[in-house]
Amino acid sequence: MVNEETNYLLYLTISALADTLAPYIATLLIKRYVEINYHYVKVLVPFAFYGALIPTFISGVIISLNLAIGGYISMSEVYRFIPILMFADSLGLFLLFPIYKHFDTLSMPTLKEWKHIAFYGISASILMCCAFYYHYLIFLVLPILLIASFKIRMSVIMIMLFVIVTEMIVMSAHNNDLFTNQRGIESIVMLMTYLISLVFVVIGMSLHNAELIANIKLAHTDSLTQTKNAKAYKEKISQLISLYQRYQTAFSIILLDIDDFKSINDNYGHRVGDIVLTDMCSLIQKNIRTNDTLFRVGGEEFVILLPITSLSEAKDVADKLKTIVANDLTTIENRQITVSLGVTEVHNEDTEDLMYRRVDELLYRSKHNGKNMVTSQ
Ligand code: GH3
Ligand code: MG
Ligand code: MG
Repeated sequence: MVNEETNYLLYLTISALADTLAPYIATLLIKRYVEINYHYVKVLVPFAFYGALIPTFISGVIISLNLAIGGYISMSEVYRFIPILMFADSLGLFLLFPIYKHFDTLSMPTLKEWKHIAFYGISASILMCCAFYYHYLIFLVLPILLIASFKIRMSVIMIMLFVIVTEMIVMSAHNNDLFTNQRGIESIVMLMTYLISLVFVVIGMSLHNAELIANIKLAHTDSLTQTKNAKAYKEKISQLISLYQRYQTAFSIILLDIDDFKSINDNYGHRVGDIVLTDMCSLIQKNIRTNDTLFRVGGEEFVILLPITSLSEAKDVADKLKTIVANDLTTIENRQITVSLGVTEVHNEDTEDLMYRRVDELLYRSKHNGKNMVTSQ
């Protein structure tokens, strides 16, 4: 009796140690083989291989052999046990994936995102409930999660995955014949295979989507000042013009150019010039409304688009910015930096080109009349 208990404890200890071994090996292999700094989908396959499959294969072999030697399963069952243990453990490691990546920002979801979360969360839950009675519905969870992964951030998708995976495991405990008519181990292997594919595909899609969003953002951002760039400006103004043509929603544009910037570069160096640009952008960003957008459209030339803003309101904004820059842009000691501005409102029959030419002409007048000035029309 004592002997049996000792043996039992021994086998249990070996199993527990082997289970701890998996995450340990995973950590070592990830450090060695997975490019930590590389974000997004390219990292998924090396992560799956080194972070999940290899470590769980090693622990799976140890645990299965241990169970067979202990007489808990027969030797012929070992080869069926290994994939179950591998997949179950890999599933756990996969669900920890976002902790490893942690690239999601910690900002709160927007209202639109909350709506998506509610919609897809509720759809998936209803489906899961129905799947208790109609098992085949379980396969429809994949497309729902796939669409959701385009609309919802990865951390939330991972929570949804976690809940769904747990729910499926509980369901299969109640209906052991969830996937096959054959009860028992075959059904468990199928469930695990399905769950691991589900998690793999959804994480892959979610990463891919995050990568797309990041690339779009990168393509619209100026690398020096981190403001939006000329490409973003062109897209935004054509959007505002078509909205104006359809709904008469007026908007205004401010064109801003730093005065004598060449002499700043010449006297203090290009690097200081760069810092002036960056400082000015953060100063302006802090002093415009969230609906107004700043774009860097040239070297030291910037546009601010102000939706639903009349000419006189936009002129007030321009005057305020002119004063703030002159007083608060203190990057260079003992040198006042000033800007000249042109302001105009959208007219009937305006095109992007016409509007830009008009505001450029107004800016030119500010320069011509002595700089540090706003001209509007
Ligand atoms: P004005 O008052 O008439 O606007 O004179 P200005 O010297 O500001 O205008 P000009 O167009 O002659 O010179 C603009 C300068 O901006 C020339 C260019 O070297 C510099 N510049 C353009 N892009 C950058 C940049 O990214 N960094 C720095 N440091 N300088 C830049
Ligand atoms: Mg200039
Ligand atoms: Mg210029």
